[in-house]
Amino acid sequence: MVKETKGNKSVAGEASSSSRSRRKRQRLPSVAEDEGRVTASVDGDEVTPEGRSGTLLDLDILDCPVCCLAFTEHVFQCDNGHLACSSCCLKLRNKCPACALPIGYNRCRVMERLIESVTVPCLNAKHGCTAKFVYGKELAHEKECVFTLCYCPAPNCNFAGVYKDLYSHYDANHKDASMRFVSGTLRNTYLSANSKLSVFQECGGGPLVVVQCFEVAEGMSVTVNCIAPSAPGVGEFSFSLSYSMGRHTVTFGLADMNRIQKVSFETPEDDFMSIPSYSNLPLNVEYLRICIRQLEDEAAEDDDEEEVGEDDEDEAGEEEEAVEEKKIRRSAREKKTNSKYQSKGK
Ligand SMILES: [Zn+2]
Ligand SMILES: [Zn+2]
Ligand SMILES: [Zn+2]
Ligand SMILES: [Zn+2]
Repeated sequence: MVKETKGNKSVAGEASSSSRSRRKRQRLPSVAEDEGRVTASVDGDEVTPEGRSGTLLDLDILDCPVCCLAFTEHVFQCDNGHLACSSCCLKLRNKCPACALPIGYNRCRVMERLIESVTVPCLNAKHGCTAKFVYGKELAHEKECVFTLCYCPAPNCNFAGVYKDLYSHYDANHKDASMRFVSGTLRNTYLSANSKLSVFQECGGGPLVVVQCFEVAEGMSVTVNCIAPSAPGVGEFSFSLSYSMGRHTVTFGLADMNRIQKVSFETPEDDFMSIPSYSNLPLNVEYLRICIRQLEDEAAEDDDEEEVGEDDEDEAGEEEEAVEEKKIRRSAREKKTNSKYQSKGK
């Protein structure tokens, strides 16, 4: 149960991955630039003016040796000095996993103080994030850090950058390969099972939305994702997709479009629209309508309580679609959780 030790991992400043498990991640101590030296004060705000600071070579010692997660609250020790976090003490029924003596009654206050005194920068510090946190508290931020790297969806392009850089890179380099969209406007597009990936970019070099088609046994699965960090206020869209099958219109949408940082070609397990192969159009030329809407716009429109139809199409499925549109908006406003629907009009 006890974690194996690994030498000097924390000296390397490069973050290895943004994997969900934080266990074996490399981290940069706050003053690692001064490696090996103990200095009275390093430039500025992160060190208390009179205090001394130094380098902690292995941040892993600040993790619970049982569960390998950062100590964040009370730290307990047995009579032999073995440590465990409070939730591990509970799980182990207060029996030290190393020596079987009771654990969970005596706190290790030195360790608790040590943890409080260590600050770590965000993993994305090298991309411009200046946020710093008490050890263990940075994870919540990193999940929605605006500096998370996003990857260019163009085939054979290896560009990665923070979202704004990616959007301007895409606009400058791949303009011809993408379609433009304006928030709240319907777009008609041909979807081909052969063209597995279609990229839409908001007019003016804005966010990128990727529409992907996956061939599955039943026909085709279509996903819509925004390439953006999962940070508040960035790439927040809703969308609706619809296609007509004879006199029926099938609509699918999400009140809160999923955000991804990198395009994946793995067949999706949820949040996709199914286009069955028995639809009367040949699979390789589905005619699909897509409407992408920025969530802020919805809030603004909801204020004046008036819904003006922006599209002047006179088709049978139109009314049902309008209903669906409203459904998306309402749920987007009421709660920010994802709601999903797939329905058939008559
Ligand atoms: Zn633990
Ligand atoms: Zn022990
Ligand atoms: Zn950050
Ligand atoms: Zn590119």
